[in-house]
Amino acid sequence: MKSFLDPIENSNVAISSQLKASTPKKAQTRTPNLIFSSNSGVILYKIDVDYTWNSAIQKEVSNWSQISNTTVNFFPVMDGTPTDNWIIFVNDGGILPNNVIAAAEFPSNGEVGFRVRINLDFNNSQQVSESGKVYNMVHEIGHCLGFRHTNWQQMNENQDGATLIPGTPQQDGLSVMNGGTALNGWNGFSQYDILAAQTIYPYSSLDKWITYPEQKLYYNISSNTVSYAHIALYNNDKVGVSWNPNLVNTAAINVYLYQNKKLVSMVGNNIPNSGTYSFDLPNNLYTSGGHNFYNLQIKIESASNQNLSDMTSFFSVMVDQIFLEAISEKYLGSQAFQPLKDLIPFQYFTEKHFEKFLSLRFDRTFK
Ligand SMILES: [Zn+2]
Repeated sequence: MKSFLDPIENSNVAISSQLKASTPKKAQTRTPNLIFSSNSGVILYKIDVDYTWNSAIQKEVSNWSQISNTTVNFFPVMDGTPTDNWIIFVNDGGILPNNVIAAAEFPSNGEVGFRVRINLDFNNSQQVSESGKVYNMVHEIGHCLGFRHTNWQQMNENQDGATLIPGTPQQDGLSVMNGGTALNGWNGFSQYDILAAQTIYPYSSLDKWITYPEQKLYYNISSNTVSYAHIALYNNDKVGVSWNPNLVNTAAINVYLYQNKKLVSMVGNNIPNSGTYSFDLPNNLYTSGGHNFYNLQIKIESASNQNLSDMTSFFSVMVDQIFLEAISEKYLGSQAFQPLKDLIPFQYFTEKHFEKFLSLRFDRTFK
């Protein structure tokens, strides 16, 4: 079983432009192994590579997450080491050839390709622009999601189960998944890259049943951080969930809370199909630091037909807003907290982020 291809085979190589200029058969192509639909929306990633690549990686996971009408969604590892369905970004440790900028693994066992290796002294340590880094990271993640090179035949690669993605054309010179393009800069996905992602990771008919908390990861350029669905609870606030009450013809729903993809508890039984519900955060959740709860998911199902269900992507909850209120009052005055909370309702933030946020906004720093 060839689950971890030779790095050369699924990597991005610096090749001269005459290769790119010729136009044999090309098309968006996938590996035989894709990510299970239950995994494609909850892909974790951890960055353990030279810091100069951090922002490119953050932008790249955001670029894939932000493609409309796909389930693909990424989340940073916040605590510990995941057990499955995660990507680690690492230095190549001198393994990759000089003309290979990075290499990735394809999916296996329904999980995302587990690793992206980056060649820090690529091409005799040439300077790689931020745009070049983003381009190459988008490309490598494409491999982790199961995309082969669009021009694999031109690159003389083995077929190894490569399958044309329906609806994509015979050629696409703009595809980010063309191989031999390590020197390119990021200029967005081609329209057929987008179609290919939408084709292999589509929403199911009930994937938009839950409307909150559900948010694709995005990159915040001013803070160089990524954001995703985050709930900040103040005092005894409950966790809210909203859904489209007209999508499924059911009188009532059941609501479940998951953490790290394992069921924590049923938090709502036979709830009227009104579109909103709120519940207390269970006290048996795993927490890091006592107030941050990561990798939570809510599932709702029809109380009369459990085959009708929807599950959110990961979201996080932070419960001790009192701390934030205290420091914002101390440094900014008593009226400062609510506007701040309104400004960043979904912003993923800890105390550290909050301090950074304040220091950016108000040029203050805290110890
Ligand atoms: Zn490649």
